[in-house]
Amino acid sequence: MSFMIEDRVAVVTGGSSGIGLETVRLLVSHGARVALCGRNRERLEAAQAELIREFPEAQLLAETCDVLDADSCEAFATAVTERFGGADMLIANAGQGYVAHLDDTPREAWLSETNLKLFGVLNPLGAFRSQLATSDIGSLTCVNSLLALQPEPHMIATSAARAALLNMTHSLSHELIQQGIRVNSILLGMVESGQWRRRFEQRDDPSQGWEEWIGAIANKRGIPMGRLGYPQEPARALVFLASPMASFTTGAALDVSGGFNRHL
Ligand code: NDP
Repeated sequence: MSFMIEDRVAVVTGGSSGIGLETVRLLVSHGARVALCGRNRERLEAAQAELIREFPEAQLLAETCDVLDADSCEAFATAVTERFGGADMLIANAGQGYVAHLDDTPREAWLSETNLKLFGVLNPLGAFRSQLATSDIGSLTCVNSLLALQPEPHMIATSAARAALLNMTHSLSHELIQQGIRVNSILLGMVESGQWRRRFEQRDDPSQGWEEWIGAIANKRGIPMGRLGYPQEPARALVFLASPMASFTTGAALDVSGGFNRHL
């Protein structure tokens, strides 16, 4: 299947690891030119080297950028314009979650979670908006979580911030379509990637291996598909929504949770 993105320019925030890296890989494999960013230069360079090994002809731009810093996003957008002449698709993926119940969630965490979920999209959007508006296929696609609809008490601040992001993306979809920019998001359940690897490192029982630990989480949470997602799975959903394959879709939130969504 072609996503109709050959030679098109995609920007992936948080493209150096996990879901973002798989998204870059899929975009490149379909002939897109891709700019990716992350804060950590070493991780970014390792990702770039891995991609070039796999796709020697890839048109890639890897830049350090903190999505919470508007100036850093502007500098990233300038570099993308200089290298590729513009941008067609912005995939806002950078971020992480905050695991804590109410009593363990300080005020700063409430503020930083809300900041990350909203400005992690708004800053890159501000920097790339004019490029997206100039494109004939402009799109913004956000990584969001099922927590937006189905909050978890052990991630109380993240859940609330995710709901705010879902609400905001819906408004953005109405506003930005005036400039021809479609806005969609995906709602993730649990996906094997960097976040889970980090939590695995801090597991209570160090004798547990990865498969056992991650399988126990899937069973305990009652995910109907009996496993966590692989990063390639949200990557496919993101590229679909970002691409002209989804040309009549805006304001959508696509569930990628292995059936974990309890809503009708
Ligand atoms: P990873 O930790 O594997 O990847 C996160 C990426 O985001 C890295 O490239 C990281 O690079 C980058 N990043 C984080 N913060 C910033 C920042 N402020 N500015 C720029 N880049 C940043 O995580 P996942 O692939 O699992 O997560 C991807 C997205 O999916 C996140 O938004 C996450 O919250 C969301 N999500 C994931 C779920 C899961 O189960 N995996 C569930 C629900 C949502 P660096 O650290 O170098 O900046």
